[in-house]
Amino acid sequence: MSKIICSAAIRGAHKIVQQAEDKLKDAIAQKGKDHKVEFPNTGYFFPIILSMTGREVKTLEELLPVLEEAKTLLPEVPAEEHWLPYLGHTLDAGMATLFAEEIIEGCKYLIGPNPVEGIWLGAADDIILRERGIEFVDGTAPGFAAIVGGAPDADTAVRIARELQEKNLYVFMCDKGANGLRFAEQLDSKGVQLGWETRLVPFGDSISAAVYALGFANRAAMSFGAVKPGDFRRNLIYNKNRIFAFVMALGGGVSDEQYATAAGAINYGFPTITDADIPEILPTGVCTYEHVVSNITHDKIVEKSIEVRGLKVSVHKLDIPVSYGPAFEGERIRKDDMYVEFGGPKAHGFEFVTMREVGEIEDNKIEIIGPDLDEFEEGSSINIGIYIEVAGRKMQKDFEPILERQIHRFLGEAQGIFHMGQRHQIRHRISKDGFNSGLRLKHIGTILHAKFHDEYGAIVDKVQVTVKTKKEDVEKLIDEVQQAFVERDERMMGMSDETTNLFYSCSLCQSFAPTHVCIISPERSGLCGSVSWLDAKASYEITPTGPNQPIEKSSVVDESMGQWEGVNKFLSDASSRKFDKVSMYSMLVDPMTSCGCFECISVLLPMCNGIMTVHRDFTEMTPCGMKFSTLAGSVGGGQQTPGFVGHSKLFMASKKFISADGGLARLVWMPKELKEEMGEYIEGTAQELGLEDFLSKIADETICTTEEEILDHLQKVNHPALQLEALI
Ligand code: SF4
Ligand code: ZN
Repeated sequence: MSKIICSAAIRGAHKIVQQAEDKLKDAIAQKGKDHKVEFPNTGYFFPIILSMTGREVKTLEELLPVLEEAKTLLPEVPAEEHWLPYLGHTLDAGMATLFAEEIIEGCKYLIGPNPVEGIWLGAADDIILRERGIEFVDGTAPGFAAIVGGAPDADTAVRIARELQEKNLYVFMCDKGANGLRFAEQLDSKGVQLGWETRLVPFGDSISAAVYALGFANRAAMSFGAVKPGDFRRNLIYNKNRIFAFVMALGGGVSDEQYATAAGAINYGFPTITDADIPEILPTGVCTYEHVVSNITHDKIVEKSIEVRGLKVSVHKLDIPVSYGPAFEGERIRKDDMYVEFGGPKAHGFEFVTMREVGEIEDNKIEIIGPDLDEFEEGSSINIGIYIEVAGRKMQKDFEPILERQIHRFLGEAQGIFHMGQRHQIRHRISKDGFNSGLRLKHIGTILHAKFHDEYGAIVDKVQVTVKTKKEDVEKLIDEVQQAFVERDERMMGMSDETTNLFYSCSLCQSFAPTHVCIISPERSGLCGSVSWLDAKASYEITPTGPNQPIEKSSVVDESMGQWEGVNKFLSDASSRKFDKVSMYSMLVDPMTSCGCFECISVLLPMCNGIMTVHRDFTEMTPCGMKFSTLAGSVGGGQQTPGFVGHSKLFMASKKFISADGGLARLVWMPKELKEEMGEYIEGTAQELGLEDFLSKIADETICTTEEEILDHLQKVNHPALQLEALI
């Protein structure tokens, strides 16, 4: 172990704790000590502080004892020649640093500079945690590289990023290097797309933003590893064993503050690999491998990091000439980078999955009928029909749309293919780079065949793909395909809660909200909007022990409330007896529990004899006196909150939407944006319910923002809510 590093880390820790003290003092002076302080949309408070100390920080005042704790962890700054025999001091300094950095970032949200600025994303909310954190657990993402600083030039940065993406790692970025450069800015300057979708996540421009990466790891352990807040030992062990992460410090030097933060990461078992010429720290108790590995060249640094951290990267090898993996799914291809486009406004195109009998098709038969990519000129729009036939003993007609929806992900994960749209409205792009690497139409078949087997092997035994590119062929087929879409939709429309005796559960969010269960019926999808009844059904067929279980409704408890014995019993069991009743159609009596992922929240407005519905993207104040974030805090967490309910956007257009409480006619206010997005659906349902000209009667923020004003508005437009039975 090196004394220089220890000194630097301890010096850095002192500086950062001092900064935190100043920042907190500032925040208290400006806002008062009782002022609320939080990261956006999370139930994990200050996640590092929560996981290490069990403290649920809600106000500025509650940060004061944390600051004191950080100070007591601070070892004295050793004189340069002084030798500290234990890594322990450095580790303490590291932990103090992380507490202090979390304080700094938290205060930034209150008094600025805003952590969300330009390319910088700031803290990840719980939705991102649910969507992305699970990938660390199920192995879709083995871990992350926390990059601090910048590469010597932008091209090197891009190369390193691509290498990490190919290994399915997330790349978390913050701070500048000794060379004055920031990795995220380098990628941005090269037009590389940043964000959670590409796994290249720019957290913040300073070193304190490193807590967003480490705090994310803490939250993953608490939510998916069931580690209790305050159980720091288990949290760190979980991270060491399960999350394969490391710090990559670039820029040719390491500042005191970066040392201090790296020391914090060593507590998690995350080593630091750097291009700088600094002393190394060799194995001791915490990591079974080196803590700091220095002087690594940029062409070796990814390989070395993976070796040091002991990552076993399983790259699924597809026989295609471009990289493949989830990190490429979110990648867009701009017009200038595009070789050709499939479909779009200038050509016909479709993709279609249809079921066949097992004897009717041949597995892995991939046929291209018509010219291939090299026979088109650069920039052309190609007529294309991607016709996929699947067969399997457990396949059902109902699963066609579910399989079809996967094409987006399956093709999109290939670098060089940009997948947009669906059905007969597609607009996919092939990039010039992809084409030049050898990407051709047959690879579409290769990918689809492999991926359907890989992920849907439980229901699919055979996959045959035909790609047609002659205009007349595509035109001929498109009618058949469109007809099939119409039939499919009619089938779905004909489905109602009454036509089935089976609902499905979704308990995916129990990792956060242990008492929460979504009950999913044909007319009510999961509250996150991403699990329909059909999805749940297919998911159950594919993984019978998974999060979606069938629920037999069994005998009716209350028809209009939507209560059944079977459903109540299921909820009772699944919530460990916390709740024993749930109404599918009421938000007043035994409403469904809410986890935190709801697309919308509906809230009772007593004065208006109605309700308001607000969606997540609306950040302004709402007529009930609470913003979405505050509402989310009080409704979420797996509670039943009469008068409030979280739900999907689409549920608003269901005839079962709070039908026991008066239904859609109760809706008196919603944000304009939501109105525009859902207008057509709502209007359609309103007409079926006999509500005339309904959408235009709903108020929005451009009309009024208080309950009193809404009431005036309702009277003016003669809103049907006023004719309904009194709500309370
Ligand atoms: Fe979570 Fe419900 Fe969505 Fe399942 S359906 S992921 S439980 S919000
Ligand atoms: Zn959820």
